[in-house]
Amino acid sequence: MKRAGDAYKSRMTDPISAPAAPVTAAPAAFDPHALPPLRDVIARFGLEARKSLGQNFLLDLNLTGRIARSANLPAGTTAIEVGPGPGGLTRALLATNAVKVIAIERDRRFIEALQDVIEASEGRLSIVEADALTVDPEELAPAPRAIVANLPYNVATPLLLGWLARIEAYVSLTLMFQKEVADRLVAKPGSKAYGRLSVITQWRSDARVLFNLPPRAFTPPPKVESTVVHLTPRSNPEPADWRALEQVTAAAFGQRRKMLRQSLKSLGNAETLLEETGIAPTARAEEIDVAGFAALARAFRARTPAEPPPERGA
Ligand code: SAM
Repeated sequence: MKRAGDAYKSRMTDPISAPAAPVTAAPAAFDPHALPPLRDVIARFGLEARKSLGQNFLLDLNLTGRIARSANLPAGTTAIEVGPGPGGLTRALLATNAVKVIAIERDRRFIEALQDVIEASEGRLSIVEADALTVDPEELAPAPRAIVANLPYNVATPLLLGWLARIEAYVSLTLMFQKEVADRLVAKPGSKAYGRLSVITQWRSDARVLFNLPPRAFTPPPKVESTVVHLTPRSNPEPADWRALEQVTAAAFGQRRKMLRQSLKSLGNAETLLEETGIAPTARAEEIDVAGFAALARAFRARTPAEPPPERGA
């Protein structure tokens, strides 16, 4: 993953925040319901949803409260949110233990609409106007930090991959995905949904599904069901090189119905890799667990020179 520092600095505008207030480990009580209803905010600022930016809003503060609480943020954590939109989840995060909330929003229309929340937050909320794909959250906040977001579905996977590459920098990631993607994140070997995304996610994190939400929970409703997933860094990830694991899983799952001795041929030395790792040449990608893929990645890396790390969002 490219550390996004330079690109991020050039594109980011100054964080907009309330006048500085002393930040304490025990944040002041914040009442999400004390501000105008989200529907009124949307009407007042003319915030019709833009499909191109994956805008499906959560306007029920009970629901956003449930998501924010499910992140289970330890005291003193900075919560980083991608895409605050009209601010339903942002308000809910301000009502948690989070010492600060930093929200990254690409659509300028929401910056003005969030001013009331910024003022009510007494210095705990900052907004960064930027494309989250170009932002390195580690540069926004010191540890402990966590990401909590109802993600724009069109960029959810590249965002997740960028964060997974450095997941040890986060207490946790609590993220809303479309259900089909969430199913792939937690899928186990032998299942239809098991693939590259499952291997890379489970190699780096312990991922579990928290709950599903139907389309009607959102305004406007998306076409698909949604799922909140909680990811925490794996304490002892199998040693492997990110790029090598990507290459091995791409080859294996690119022809998932073929035996590995065939599908891994593009790596140049399929039979040797399988022999070295003790994996049956007749096995198929979907039968191999994370430890097996990590072993294949190590064997592959030992025989091929290392390449530069992947671009953020690649
Ligand atoms: N958090 C709000 C809620 O739950 O109602 C809005 C969630 S909506 C699914 C996704 C939000 O992400 C929108 O506000 C959208 O403008 C914003 N967004 C889309 N692409 C983005 C990007 N690349 N970087 C930052 N924000 C983005």
